[in-house]
Amino acid sequence: QLKETVYLDKLAVAGQMAAAIAHEVRNPMTTIRGMIQFLGSTTTDAKLREHSPLLIEELDRTNKIITDYLSMVKPDVPKLETVSLEKVLRDVIALTAPYGAINNVEVTASPLGSYNVCIDEPKLKQGLINIIKNGIEAIEEGGTIHLYRYKVTKSRITIAIEDNGKGMTEEELEQIGLPFYTTKAKGTGLGMMVTYKLIQDMDGKLRYESVLNEGTRVLLTLQLCTKRNIVNGEEVG
Ligand code: ADP
Ligand code: MG
Repeated sequence: QLKETVYLDKLAVAGQMAAAIAHEVRNPMTTIRGMIQFLGSTTTDAKLREHSPLLIEELDRTNKIITDYLSMVKPDVPKLETVSLEKVLRDVIALTAPYGAINNVEVTASPLGSYNVCIDEPKLKQGLINIIKNGIEAIEEGGTIHLYRYKVTKSRITIAIEDNGKGMTEEELEQIGLPFYTTKAKGTGLGMMVTYKLIQDMDGKLRYESVLNEGTRVLLTLQLCTKRNIVNGEEVG
């Protein structure tokens, strides 16, 4: 039985408050980081000298989480361009293949055909990388991530990113994309929240289907750069 979820406005929860807090927290953190660095390098205390790099590392990790958060909530108008989807997929596969290889996962794609999409290229790539990385991390003992054309209409194309990883229960599926939702020991639970926002900003759609212990299929819909079919102000097809 197929379990499915459609992303709606889960982001509203994360909202503007998080952005404000993140922003405020950053400045004192920078001060603390500088101070630790200074003390760590000038002190005669062996313990402080030994542990200060770890403190700095942890501060940097915290800062990265905040950066991810801000990249999601801060209004950033996407730069939409006409780009070959096949080229984007090729680039993204080349970027994720090494991470797949060390996890015994092959990242593959079926020939897509020539479709130009209306997208922000760096943002689409970031989103696809997040999706593929999750697929790789869901595969425990080797497997495949496969990308293929799922559906094409007059104005949109949907591609599938499918993995044969551990899948998700209905409950897990509902939580994906919520801030800090993670089932991983070292996860941030921000990847899909950011991705959803990036895709939404370019008028795209993201949808997950999953079967526990069998795998997950992510359906990503993007706008094609063809002339749109407009009838009475309504888009058709
Ligand atoms: P993180 O990867 O840091 O955990 P994400 O937002 O990228 O955060 O993903 C949130 C959670 O969604 C993951 O921890 C995992 O439980 C689940 N998930 C995402 N993609 C998949 C997938 N392809 N297969 C199984 N579970 C997934
Ligand atoms: Mg992730």
